[in-house]
Amino acid sequence: MNLGIYIQVPFCQSKCTYCNFHTGVFARSLYDPYVAAICHELTVRSAAWRAASAPSQGGDGPIVDTVYIGGGTPSLLEPTALARILVTLCASFCCQLEEVTLEADPETVTPEKAAAWRAAGINRISMGVQSFHDRELSAAGRLHGREDIFHATRILREAGFGNLSFDLIAGLPHQTAASWEDSLENLLRLRPEHVSVYLIEIDEGSRLGREVLAGGGRYSAAALPGDDAMAEFYERAGTRLAAEGYEHYEISNWGLPGFQSRHNLKYWRREPYLGIGAGAHSFDGQARWANPHDSAAYVTAIEAGNLPAEQYEVITPQVALDEELFLGLRQLEGIDLGRIEKQYNASLRGRVEALLETGLVEFDGTRLRLAPSRLAVANEVFVELLG
Ligand code: SF4
Repeated sequence: MNLGIYIQVPFCQSKCTYCNFHTGVFARSLYDPYVAAICHELTVRSAAWRAASAPSQGGDGPIVDTVYIGGGTPSLLEPTALARILVTLCASFCCQLEEVTLEADPETVTPEKAAAWRAAGINRISMGVQSFHDRELSAAGRLHGREDIFHATRILREAGFGNLSFDLIAGLPHQTAASWEDSLENLLRLRPEHVSVYLIEIDEGSRLGREVLAGGGRYSAAALPGDDAMAEFYERAGTRLAAEGYEHYEISNWGLPGFQSRHNLKYWRREPYLGIGAGAHSFDGQARWANPHDSAAYVTAIEAGNLPAEQYEVITPQVALDEELFLGLRQLEGIDLGRIEKQYNASLRGRVEALLETGLVEFDGTRLRLAPSRLAVANEVFVELLG
């Protein structure tokens, strides 16, 4: 099975109020040592992966067909640094790259960078658009405005990018049904090949989340739209995207035909992927592990010649079965229940029947899938299945 490689770049220009990722604002002097650590980790991991897979793959190791450079804001790195990472990756692994994605924020896109990204082999840009409304963007701490989105899209198209993905966030402070509709219309006018719609998460991991949980009013906490409105925004996005020819293939993701994210599909299909960089997660089919989240600790460990791995977990058959359900049901095509029961020698009928009674899932005799009308409450399904 082919391998996907994820490269984590944890640097941002500012911290968005809703962000609960392990990313932050770092001095630019830290960028080069971090890139050097990434390159070093790539070479060492390739040797380890090759050794582990040698008997079945003739010693050549796996073929890498997708790369995803995410963050953070990896478009902040100099294009030469990104090119260095990709050159090192291709020198370390057997590469037949079909999809090479770079996450970019609109205000970081320039004609010079776009041309250099193309020259480095990047063929897909995932842009953190989030909203087309300046009030929402500024309350969320984003550094771009509505015009930056149009400008960046023009630059990327002129540079020859034929595969763009735009992220939108449902539930931002100040968002209304009218402003959401307007964001959808503007997005559809730009017609990216792929769209992700995420629901804002309110938890202890973000400044906004902590403020809401503490009952405070900073970060426009009082202007959050609420769960019902957020669910309506999500459903409205599905309706509009479907009407414009986008296929809904995963709970949060839509693509024009042929433009599903090949890299992200590996996560939901339990195919192997290798995560490089601070906090990056890996899965080799037998185990899952993660690098340290702290980027300084990560660089120090790599410079000392260590391969840091935290949260190492061997995947037991029971965990693998739960993952098949949890990850498989995220995909709108659902799961082949018979195949899973046979593969794991397990009966799932009892668990599934209880779910069918709730109307959250549908079963056509072969495939179990989320009921289209209940996607907004899909998390309930996962809790049930794993309970
Ligand atoms: S740009 Fe992305 S990773 Fe960085 S702070 Fe904002 S949401 Fe978080």
